[in-house]
Amino acid sequence: MAQFALVIDLNTCVGCHACATNCKEWNTQASFGPLSDFDPYGREPEGVWYNRIMTYEMGEFPNTQVFHLPKSCLHCQDAPCVPVCPTGASYKREQDGIVLVNYDDCIGCKLCSWSCPYGCREFDEADKVMKKCTLCIDRIYDESLPPEQRKPACVLTCPARARFFGDIEDPNSEAYRMIKERNGFVLFPDMGTNPANHYLPRTETKIHIDEHLLRADNPLFLEVVRRHHVGL
Ligand code: SF4
Ligand code: SF4
Ligand code: SF4
Repeated sequence: MAQFALVIDLNTCVGCHACATNCKEWNTQASFGPLSDFDPYGREPEGVWYNRIMTYEMGEFPNTQVFHLPKSCLHCQDAPCVPVCPTGASYKREQDGIVLVNYDDCIGCKLCSWSCPYGCREFDEADKVMKKCTLCIDRIYDESLPPEQRKPACVLTCPARARFFGDIEDPNSEAYRMIKERNGFVLFPDMGTNPANHYLPRTETKIHIDEHLLRADNPLFLEVVRRHHVGL
C-alpha cells in the first residue's frame, strides 16, 4: 500500500514559518474551506493552523543551540485518532494512507484530539469541527497542475528546501530516498502509532568562536567578560 508523507530536514530548517504561512494560505482558499482566525492582527492571534513551528534553545551561553521543529499531522500508519471516532468522520485512506476528517460527519466531540499523542488536531471553533493537515490532497491529485506543482504547499514554499514529499513505501520516491540515505526517524516511536512523516536528524557542527568572542569590537565581548571574570 502506498503511504504518502512529509520528510523534514531538521539540519536545514531555519524556522522561518514560510511553510506554516503558505499552508494556511492554501488551505483557506482551497477545497477544504477557510481556516478560522481569531484576533489575527491583535495581541493574541489564534486560529486553525495545520502546521506549527516549535523553536527550542538548548545549552548555556555561549554554548547554545537553537533548533526548529515543524509539526503537522504525521499521518500515522496505526493512527489512534481513527478508531476512537464515534461517527467514522476520522478515517485513513486505503489508497495513499492519508488521514482525513469528513466534516459532514464530525460532531466536534474532540475524542480524536485527546487520542493524538502529538497534539496535531486543530478544533475549528468557528465551524465546530475537527480539522488537520490533509497533505494537500487537493493539490497532489490535481491534474490541472504541472507535475512539479503536485506537492503540498509547505514543500513548495520552503526556502531552505528542508521539506520533501512522496510515498515512503516507494523506493523511487524522494521521501523514501531521504529517509534511507539520511537516517530518517519518527517522533515518539514507542507510542506504537508508526507515523508516516519522518525527520532527518541534525548533525552537530563544532564551531570555535572563542577567539571572535574575545575581540573587543564584538558586542558580546562585555557579556563574556562579565560572566567569566566578574562571575555574575
Ligand atoms: S499525528 Fe495525530 S492526528 Fe495525525 S494521524 Fe497521528 S494520531 Fe492522528
Ligand atoms: S471530533 Fe469529529 S473527527 Fe474527532 S472523534 Fe469527534 S466526531 Fe470524530
Ligand atoms: S519553510 Fe522550511 S525552513 Fe522555513 S520553517 Fe518551514 S521547514 Fe523550516
